[in-house]
Amino acid sequence: MTGLPRVRHTSAPMPEGCRWCGTAEREHPQLWVPGRGWHGWVEPTRKQITARMWARHARKGQP
Ligand SMILES: [Zn+2]
Repeated sequence: MTGLPRVRHTSAPMPEGCRWCGTAEREHPQLWVPGRGWHGWVEPTRKQITARMWARHARKGQP
């Protein structure tokens, strides 16, 4: 994966998780991520939600 800075996750981020780090809103204190720095929960774009849903779906079929 190249391009946008991403946070490594052990599992796919929640589709409705933070735009910058994928953390669910209710579990999101101020967090620091590379490329963004400190931030509060930010609503993800519809495109991100869709992409995450597909990523989660795709992972289920893989070992
Ligand atoms: Zn975040």
